[in-house]
Amino acid sequence: MTSPIELQPEEFKAIGHQLIDMIAGFIGGIAHRPITTGKTAKELQQLLGSSSLPGEGTPAAEIFSRITPLLFDDSLLNGHPKFMGYITSSAAPAGALADLLAAAVNPNVGAQILSPVATEVEKCTIKWLAEFIGLDQGYGGLLVSGGNMANFTAFLVARTAKAGNAIKEEGLNNTSGRMLVYCSQNTHTWIEKAAALFGHGTRTIRWIPTDIFDRMDTVLLEKTIKEDLQAGARPFMVVGTAGDVSSGAVDDLRAIAGVCKTYDLWFHIDGAYGMPAAAVPGQQKVFDGMKEADSIALDPHKWLYCPLEAGCTLVKDPRRLLDTYSSHPAYYNFNSTEDDPVHNYYERGLQNSRGFRALKVWIALQQAGKTGYIKMINKNIQLSRLLFELAEKHPQLEAVTQHLSITTFRYIPLARGEDTQYLDKLNETLLNRLQLGGKVFLSNAVIHKKYCLRACIVNFRTSKKDIEEMIEIIVKEGERTHQYLSVPV
Ligand SMILES: *Cc1c(COP(=O)(O)O)cnc(C)c1O
Repeated sequence: MTSPIELQPEEFKAIGHQLIDMIAGFIGGIAHRPITTGKTAKELQQLLGSSSLPGEGTPAAEIFSRITPLLFDDSLLNGHPKFMGYITSSAAPAGALADLLAAAVNPNVGAQILSPVATEVEKCTIKWLAEFIGLDQGYGGLLVSGGNMANFTAFLVARTAKAGNAIKEEGLNNTSGRMLVYCSQNTHTWIEKAAALFGHGTRTIRWIPTDIFDRMDTVLLEKTIKEDLQAGARPFMVVGTAGDVSSGAVDDLRAIAGVCKTYDLWFHIDGAYGMPAAAVPGQQKVFDGMKEADSIALDPHKWLYCPLEAGCTLVKDPRRLLDTYSSHPAYYNFNSTEDDPVHNYYERGLQNSRGFRALKVWIALQQAGKTGYIKMINKNIQLSRLLFELAEKHPQLEAVTQHLSITTFRYIPLARGEDTQYLDKLNETLLNRLQLGGKVFLSNAVIHKKYCLRACIVNFRTSKKDIEEMIEIIVKEGERTHQYLSVPV
């Protein structure tokens, strides 16, 4: 008798072939579906059937045929060409096949002995990612679940590097002076989680104000560090952001690198979103100084169009990862005569058992190649600029900011002046209506105290036509929203 979870090859094929056919149809027709149907959680529970845990088994084929259409019909489709919300990309279809293959083989990429080929694929992927964004050779790193984890991974490396074994063994109690981290006020919320997670506390974060271009004010950065040093604190790390989540602004990485050098601080770049743009000729000056970073976080599941989840931490001196995460760092054999040292990923990061998320990244990098990626990323930037220009020209739109592939703008009714409060409310209501409408999907950003619509294009399916149609959709819905809000109740 076979076990209840086994699938015999014939049954596996039958379910798999049907599933692949349905997925191909879904991807092929994604532009013609609503981005969201806006059903409530209650309605979805009803569709799912809120029965109790099944006692007896059900044939797998039945379960797949029930859940597949539900997922296609009622998910939020970030692969739709007019999806430009948050920073979630359209996913490379080959990534879906890669995940299937990875799960079928199921290597545990925590230890080399459990994943001989997969470990090599991940090492190669890390090398390619560093090369793609233009780093010199020698960087090491690993794949993690996303940007938060990539930044956490680097945070602990930074503090171990700057405080040594004392902190690894004795914790923060043994350090002289409070260990402080510096970042711009626009830094993503991961920094607060990291400060809490690693026991520093969120009050050890020094939020540095930004300039008119939304970049960290590096004069204030240096001034704050000096004051903290004089007060007996212990600065250890500066986080530069390469592509902030609201506006896409990239900090002055060169200036931050200079400050880090002067005060012997760890220089980390959070490039979860923006880093891949460093590969685009013409954008490289925006990232000037990045090569000075001790560590960099980037997300293949954002601007490299890999399906969730894939984040990446790169470290200039890979031994720092072992110092931090290996219990036996003496084991590492950098100066040994062995030309084939063991490469265990559990000794380089927070996870122990690890999935084979490298495969989808490795495949995507080859499918598109460096040239293909540069083209796609550059196209997203150009479309974002086009959106800004169209908004600038339109009498009912106000263009606010444009960096990398993020444009912020607002709807302004023709017959209404600068009533700030009303414009905020109008644009917030408009955004909610657009999101529920299912034709375009944007998110919001508050820029210089203005509530804005925000389009982040990390989508290889978006075209010029989508941008032009989107403008029309937004203006039409803006008129309706203004009318709706102006009607006295
Ligand atoms: C998206 C993002 C994060 C968080 O990454 P996740 O993959 O969502 O965990 C952190 N920082 C920046 C700048 C980001 O864009």
